[in-house]
Amino acid sequence: MYRSHYSKDVTKKDYNKSITVAGWIEDIRNIGSIAFIILRDKRGTLQLTVLKKKNPELFEKLTSLSRESVISVKGICKENEKVRNDYEILPERLEILSVAKAPLPLGVVDKVEADFDTRLDNRFIDLRKQKNQAIFTIRNAVIAAVHKYLQSQDFVEVHTPKITASSSEGGTDVFKLKYFEKEAFLAQSPQLYKQSLMATGLDRVYEIAWYFRAEEHNTRRHLNESTAVDLEMAFINDEEEVMNVLENLVYNMWKKASDCKNELKILVKKISVPELPFARIVYDKVVDKLQDRNSSIEWGQDLGTDDERLLGDIMKEEGAELYFITKYPLESKPFYTMPKGDKYSRGFDLACKGIEIASGSQRIHDVKLLEERMKACDLNPEDFESYLKAFKYGMPPHGGFGFGIERFLMELLDIKNIRECILFPRDRTRLTP
Ligand code: ATP
Ligand code: MG
Repeated sequence: MYRSHYSKDVTKKDYNKSITVAGWIEDIRNIGSIAFIILRDKRGTLQLTVLKKKNPELFEKLTSLSRESVISVKGICKENEKVRNDYEILPERLEILSVAKAPLPLGVVDKVEADFDTRLDNRFIDLRKQKNQAIFTIRNAVIAAVHKYLQSQDFVEVHTPKITASSSEGGTDVFKLKYFEKEAFLAQSPQLYKQSLMATGLDRVYEIAWYFRAEEHNTRRHLNESTAVDLEMAFINDEEEVMNVLENLVYNMWKKASDCKNELKILVKKISVPELPFARIVYDKVVDKLQDRNSSIEWGQDLGTDDERLLGDIMKEEGAELYFITKYPLESKPFYTMPKGDKYSRGFDLACKGIEIASGSQRIHDVKLLEERMKACDLNPEDFESYLKAFKYGMPPHGGFGFGIERFLMELLDIKNIRECILFPRDRTRLTP
């Protein structure tokens, strides 16, 4: 029996016909002789109307079910302007597919929102909420836009190892694991692999990648397991070419999100597509602007959370929600970043409303310079032997970026906590569900 129609797919053509619907019982209102049951499926909700007199047994069965039980119902679809969707179903047959235990650990349509931990502990129910379904529908749409745009630009999708012998970029925020007799790490990013691929002739690659980062602090914008669009492209003249791909990618994702009218309505969110090209501001100017507003930032330092936010405010006043920060000091960027003179680098960030959403650069392709920069960053080239090897037998100039999907979503939809943008978040204290 199960389902011939989703709630939102019923049309006038189906009126006075027998159809089957299936889903979760969201609400039961029993007023004695008649009962109204709200059934929810992935497209929305619909009303079942049952008359006791007509079918006492069915009435009894339906009205005694617990909320969130799963049923399939066959019945006549009747036009009724007073009801949601302008129709109701008069059940004739009922199949109970799963009875939900009562009480529920979390309500689906409760007016008062449960606390965040209760929601995440019961994420399978939390995700039944329309709002959350809307977030993940938009997530799906923007990721589809990533594939569509990058494929159209001749990029090849790749998948690189997530279990690695050395940490991607050095640093401490790496998860160690036992790999038989050896020690291994979970990949912090595909950085070293996507660069190695530039030596293969694939030229333009991208990956929807998992990042595993053992960052100790719990913030509203960090996850310990997150996803990103990682991209690398060869035969570039400078980082501007990479920024160009990135801004067009973001533009296409934003545009695709703006087409999700239903979901944006559910989220009570209006978004307007940003204009191309995005603003560009050099690091030195950022420091000046921040210092003018009494920030204690000094030249060479990375932007702290407060500085990022303050810059977001300043840029908003200037009419830019999305902006590149370019020409970073060499010392504030990773070892593989191409220098620009002695002090500066070809590294950039893309920020949205005061939060970094992507980092990228032209990379070093000369192996000698690369080893030099490693040493300058207190890294031992011997730990990166297999990476360095890829630079010794023909490596073209290249560059790329890493762009956080959850970060993008939270800024796109003005969601306060990044955990809302991933199905099952991993943070400092949460490993289940
Ligand atoms: P931040 O300084 O904001 O912590 P980062 O500079 O350490 O980020 P990158 O190594 O530049 O991060 O990673 C590229 C992108 O991946 C970031 O711009 C961000 O969008 C995303 N990202 C990185 N780390 C995380 C994380 N822990 N949780 C969610 N997204 C992340
Ligand atoms: Mg960064």
